[in-house]
Amino acid sequence: MSHAIYIVTANALNLRAAASAVADKLGVMPAGAMAVRDGDSTDPAWLKVVWNGLQGYAAAKHLRLQGNALPPLSPVSPASPAIPAAPSVEARDRDMAHLHPVVRTAVTKVLEHLNSKDIPFAMFEGYRTPERQAWLYGQGRTRAGGVVTHAEAWESYHQYGLACDLVLFENGRWSWDDSGPRRAWWTEMQKVAKDNGLRSLKFELPHVEHAGPTWRELQAGAALPDGGDLSWFENYSLAALRWRKGGRGPSAPPVEYAERPGLPTA
Ligand SMILES: [Zn+2]
Repeated sequence: MSHAIYIVTANALNLRAAASAVADKLGVMPAGAMAVRDGDSTDPAWLKVVWNGLQGYAAAKHLRLQGNALPPLSPVSPASPAIPAAPSVEARDRDMAHLHPVVRTAVTKVLEHLNSKDIPFAMFEGYRTPERQAWLYGQGRTRAGGVVTHAEAWESYHQYGLACDLVLFENGRWSWDDSGPRRAWWTEMQKVAKDNGLRSLKFELPHVEHAGPTWRELQAGAALPDGGDLSWFENYSLAALRWRKGGRGPSAPPVEYAERPGLPTA
């Protein structure tokens, strides 16, 4: 049985309880949403899929195969196995595999270009869990210290695997120095990032993100970039599930699929 990921190509695609246009409507999948095939359908015009924790049927002509095969999935239910705990909020994730391939490829090119010119940037932080984002947001607000971010959980591209922070790494130390000749290094980093489809923020020098929909649009169900792969998908969707199951607001992104017993050890 196939567990491939499909992308919704219609503006709004009904998820129905049976393979019929008059069957009960379970939900409406927005354009760009991902659904996971979860079984065989007797009618080739309909695919049996899981989306947003719901299992149902959707018209095959409005679903495009993304191509990622997943291990067996089951719909979300209260009795389903535990989701792995979040990593420590103090830990920075520097795993390129947790970035969406679009950003991973761009950042790799940016770093190769800069490093070939002896400009010593490296990835300081890539994927950031919503738990860590909330913790960082608390700094200077509910905790001591200076404010380090304007973004609450799920308001940063880091939570979608669509952003990373590039910082100078010189003599074994991270450096945010942008004085003197280093000023031009930061300017060059942002320029090369832009050439590779990444945009910068005026108020946060190291941050680059995929130039796509805003986080508000992502939260509302806007399409994530094409080409997502398993390592990104699994990390991101588990974070969304964990957050939602914890009953924490604001709402997790709607692109939530299905639950699995745990991550394979990679
Ligand atoms: Zn950032």
